[in-house]
Order: sequence, then structure tokens, then C-alpha cells
Amino acid sequence: MKSSAASSPWCALVGAGPGDPELLTLRAIRLIRRATVLLVDDLVSDAVVERALAGRKRKPRIVHVGKRGGCRSTPQEFIIRLMINEALAGERVVRLKGGDPFVFGRGGEEAEALRAHGIEVEIASGITAAVAASATLGVPLTHRTHAHGVMLVTGHAKPGGAPLHWPTLAAAAAQGLTLVIYMGVAEWPQLQAGLLQGLPPETPAAVVQHASLPQQRQVLTVLGELAETITREGLGSPAIIILGDVLRGALALAAETPLQHAQAA
Ligand code: SAH
Repeated sequence: MKSSAASSPWCALVGAGPGDPELLTLRAIRLIRRATVLLVDDLVSDAVVERALAGRKRKPRIVHVGKRGGCRSTPQEFIIRLMINEALAGERVVRLKGGDPFVFGRGGEEAEALRAHGIEVEIASGITAAVAASATLGVPLTHRTHAHGVMLVTGHAKPGGAPLHWPTLAAAAAQGLTLVIYMGVAEWPQLQAGLLQGLPPETPAAVVQHASLPQQRQVLTVLGELAETITREGLGSPAIIILGDVLRGALALAAETPLQHAQAA
């Protein structure tokens, strides 16, 4: 890996993984420990920051820059401006993000803005929520027989942007692709209506909320009953929704053991 000269402006976009400190990478820990300014996303648990900084004498300045949909949050432009200013002032800036910085993390926009100011950008991948949810459920996202690929999509279109055409995505999923939806629980009833135009209601479905964290909850159901299940179980953000045949075995098992069905893990 490249290391920057002490004087050249530098910033790292670091993936913190889904929440469990055990899912931090060694690279993430090394970069976090190198920071003088740490900008922390609200999906990053305190446990992750504590674990990464354990034993470090000089703590970085920590700035919490939450950006959760629907909540009061720091505007993205402000965060980018802060990163640029601090890096140009000679600080070692580390932007710690939930999951992976390049999967629905707006890392692309940030890297572009930083590079435009001559700031060297280092990226550290993190375990994205889809992967953590799949491991939690014990089901793969791809399978030689059931799923020839996986689509990671957002259920929350950029304000003013063109929304995804859910019937088309459903048609692709029906070809044998697992569909993983980030940021989908809040607007799920509309999404479900669109998906039912291309997928049968009995398509296996799962929701994992707070994957990898102590408060994790998961439900297994079918597409046609997902909206009702989300409401009944009070599931909210952050949650991952998985649809597809890869869940078939898990769903059958859950039906045999009712305690696991539609209940907190
Ligand atoms: N960069 C992140 C995604 C950020 S977008 C990543 O790679 O995981 C925020 C969305 O990610 C949430 O609305 C939710 O859909 C998902 N998410 C993030 N952390 C999660 C977790 N621990 N459990 C379930 N979903 C999570």
C-alpha cells in the first residue's frame, strides 16, 4: 500500500463493517489509529471506535456526522467541506462509514471532491450489510443451483431522482438472481406492490435489522406477506431485505421451528 508523505494532504474513507467490532478489518484499524481527525457516521457503533482506538494514547478529535434518512443530520456538503478543510490543514482525516464506503456510502462523491482538491484518498473496504445479513441468516447470496448472481439495490431513491422500476427488477430476480434491498423498510409497501408484478407472492423473503449487533432481529417470510410482517414486528432502519430462492431452505426450516419464524433472533 502507498503511504503518503507527512506534508501531502491525505484522507481515508474507511469501512467499519456492519457493527460488530470483530468485523473490522486490520487495515481499518490501522488507518483509524493513524487519524488525528475521525469523522464518524451514525451507523458506526461506539464499540467499533473503542475497539479500534484501544490503547492509543493520543486520541483523535472525533466528529459525529450522522446522516440517517429522516433524522436530523449533517448535510453531505458540510461533511465534504469539513474533510477537505481538515486535510488541507494537515490533519490526517479518516472518514469512518458503516459497511463499505463504496456501497451506498457516498464514498464515490467524497473521493471525487477530495481528489479535486489535490488530496490523496485511501480506501479501506468494509463488510457491507448485505454480506453480514447473509452470514447471519446462514444463507448464501449466490448459489450454483438457485442464484446466478445478486443485485444490491437501494429502496430509497435520491430526492428528485428517477425511482427504480421495481417490476423490471422483479423480472430480473425471477431469472435466478438474489435481490438485496438497502434502505427499503420505510417505503416497503410501494416496493412490494411493484415487485409482485414480476415475482410470485410465495418468493422467500427475509429482513435482518441491525445485522451483527447485539440488538439484531431477523424474520423469514414470503414476499406477499412482507409488508404486513414488517409492520407487525415493528422492524425499522437499518435493515436489509433479501428476496430469492437462496432463502428456500432457511424458510422451510423456520416453518418447522415456529419459534424462529418472524421473531427476534
Ligand atoms: N455503506 C453501508 C450502507 C449504507 S446505506 C454498507 O455497505 O453496508 C444504509 C443502509 O444500509 C441501511 O438503511 C440498511 O439498509 C443497511 N445497513 C447498514 N448497516 C446495517 C446493519 N447492521 N444491519 C442491517 N442493515 C444495515
